[in-house]
Amino acid sequence: MRKKRGDPSSDRESIILRGATENTNEGFITIDQHHQVIIFNKAAEKIFGYSREEVLGKDLGLILSPECEQGHKQAVSRFLDFREPKLIGHQTEFLTTRKNGERFPLSISFSVSEIEGKFYFTGIVRDLTETKALQEKIAQSERLAALGQLVAEITHEIKNPLIMIGGFARQLSRTVQDEKSQGKLKIIADEVQRLEKLILELKEVYRPQKLTFERVNVNTLLEEIYSLSKEDCKTAQITLQLETHQNPLFVEGDPGKLKQVFLNLVKNALEAMEKGGTLTIHSKRTDNQAEITITDNGPGIPLKDRDRLFTPFFTTKRRGTGLGLSVSKKIIEDHPGGTLGLDSQEGKGTIAKISLPLLREA
Ligand code: ADP
Ligand code: MG
Repeated sequence: MRKKRGDPSSDRESIILRGATENTNEGFITIDQHHQVIIFNKAAEKIFGYSREEVLGKDLGLILSPECEQGHKQAVSRFLDFREPKLIGHQTEFLTTRKNGERFPLSISFSVSEIEGKFYFTGIVRDLTETKALQEKIAQSERLAALGQLVAEITHEIKNPLIMIGGFARQLSRTVQDEKSQGKLKIIADEVQRLEKLILELKEVYRPQKLTFERVNVNTLLEEIYSLSKEDCKTAQITLQLETHQNPLFVEGDPGKLKQVFLNLVKNALEAMEKGGTLTIHSKRTDNQAEITITDNGPGIPLKDRDRLFTPFFTTKRRGTGLGLSVSKKIIEDHPGGTLGLDSQEGKGTIAKISLPLLREA
């Protein structure tokens, strides 16, 4: 038996369909043949940033960029004139703009329905921002793996001659008498040392790291960092403060690597405060996390640099390697649930914050 309009099973079907369209993650936008919006579901509101009230009954052009609008109108009129279903049933991807001006990638597939001689066009829209970001991340990790291989080969080739150059420079400086040559040899030895350090750090960034996890008290590590940094701070006229949580903060971590991260951050803070200041190492517990902050009252980080801090080789220092933060981030993120972020205010200072999940004590 065929279903008739008004019969209960057909009503049920349209209620189900309406519920499904309303609650799906895909944006549903239906326009009539005059380009006026007649359906704009919740997901479409979220994707485009317009509320239903703003859009319903309006021309679709309101939410499309001018290029899209023109193409879309052409496709609709081609369909109406020639029944040419150029886009119907196909999925296309393009860039468009949200209400707040943000550009984003989107995929859309079209369908058409005819009711009493009138056509209605529905676009099913998917926001591809996250998909694209994920694809980019995968591509980036592939590039990194290839780069890692290259770095391993190059550093291997460079390391031995470098050690030789440094060794000979130090040997010669013991026999050479005149001051000028002594000075030059010292520069050679210093620069070689810097390059050796760079090579070590490079390896850290590009070679897959093996962490050895154990139960560690973050506070104990911070106390060690405090003792290690005290002298350097004194020389630089920096007051070093240690404020650890009153109870031990046990996490699952690689103590050596974690110390390396804390030292990197303390070093950055120290280097930022050229004119002295206060450096505070602090730990506390929040919910199920140990939170460690390293705060300085140096010059802060200019807005224009903030996106690039964790990019390998980004440095604003004459003799910086630009690898400290990228290595540190990698180490922390290799701890399941760990995060590392920097928060900075120009003219006020910088806070480096690390979060690590606390071990649940038996
Ligand atoms: P490097 O210290 O070798 O420059 P990093 O990766 O450790 O490399 O840091 C990258 C850059 O981030 C630094 O050159 C500096 O511009 C900025 N930066 C990091 N920490 C701070 C801080 N505490 N205050 C100001 N700038 C900072
Ligand atoms: Mg650094």
